[in-house]
Amino acid sequence: MPDALPDATDVQDAALPEHRASLANLQRVIGDVGGHLGGPTLICVGGLHGNEPSGVHGLRRVVRALVENPHGLQGRMLALSGNRAALEADQRYFEHDLNRAWTPQRLALVHARDDALSYEDAELRDLEALIGQAVDAAPGYAAVFDLHSTSGGGPPFVTMDDTLSNRALAFQIPAPHVLGLEEELAGTMLGYWIERGVPAVGFESGQHSDPGSVDRAEAAVWITLESSGVLASGARSEVAAARDLLNTTAAGLPKVVEVRYREPVHLGVPFRMRPGYVSFQSVRRGDQLATNGTDAITAPESGLILMPLYQTQGEDGFFIVRPVRSFWLRISAMLRHLRMDRIAHWLPGVKRHPELEGAFLVNRKRARAFALEIFHLLGFRKRVMSKETLVVTPRERRRRR
Ligand SMILES: [Zn+2]
Repeated sequence: MPDALPDATDVQDAALPEHRASLANLQRVIGDVGGHLGGPTLICVGGLHGNEPSGVHGLRRVVRALVENPHGLQGRMLALSGNRAALEADQRYFEHDLNRAWTPQRLALVHARDDALSYEDAELRDLEALIGQAVDAAPGYAAVFDLHSTSGGGPPFVTMDDTLSNRALAFQIPAPHVLGLEEELAGTMLGYWIERGVPAVGFESGQHSDPGSVDRAEAAVWITLESSGVLASGARSEVAAARDLLNTTAAGLPKVVEVRYREPVHLGVPFRMRPGYVSFQSVRRGDQLATNGTDAITAPESGLILMPLYQTQGEDGFFIVRPVRSFWLRISAMLRHLRMDRIAHWLPGVKRHPELEGAFLVNRKRARAFALEIFHLLGFRKRVMSKETLVVTPRERRRRR
């Protein structure tokens, strides 16, 4: 028997199309099934951004299907809603971005005081506690899956920190995988759980108000339930149907891309994207893409544009990505299995960080220009980079208990 049935607020208004169904008085727990089975745990979050409801609707569908028919279920799926009042208001956030607030400093502050929390800080505290409890309660494997959508159009894609455990969780999803966003964005929920040793990947299902974004969010959840082991392999027809659906949008696109550039949006400076850009559209160096106040913004290099911003809230104007060849992915997996990071300090200009465990300090004057690329292959990420030094830390960590 399922652990919990979706409650009354989960029953949508039949007169409305599903993607416009009510998000009023949204419950935090959209569904919680299979907890008694003792298997792996997948924690899914929809609507961390309030104007991105397709994740919530997609999760409702999957929960409903699993409650009606738990066949193949061998672990726990916990489905949570994100920024609830912002979802009801169809607004990205009220006071600050809930997906940029997951820093250890902010969480320490949020835990230290009960009064005068912002709306988003209260949501942050609640979500962190619930996800943390589910991770701690998991008898073995636990992972986080975070559902989003974009203001511009284009095919769906996966966002992930390039760890081997994230690859195992997410490479089954037939969609481009975007690596390296975490080096550009601080305080994301995914980054926080990765730091705690929990595999955590995101999925961008398409344009915010496109009903198809709900279908694609649902599809990505089905596939990830199987790749996490929450569903037995091959047990559900929904997983095969999900692969078929996402295969249609992935056709002709690179399997893996890495972020090369982020265009920041500055507070108080109106950012205007030129109309018509969609994710994965080719741009050439020098193309005029947007304006920042009265300044023209051109592409600093050729590549594929990602997440062009067509809404007023948000700090990222667009990204430029480029494909990563599968050869390099295989090489990097091999280097990591061999634990080549243990001899990284043999490289010229590289030494172990005196304070940060597992980290390396790179003297950029002495090290080769491609030091960061080598550390990416070895499974490290950039932490701090100045003219003289670069600090890299390992992406993969053991789960802290
Ligand atoms: Zn989002």
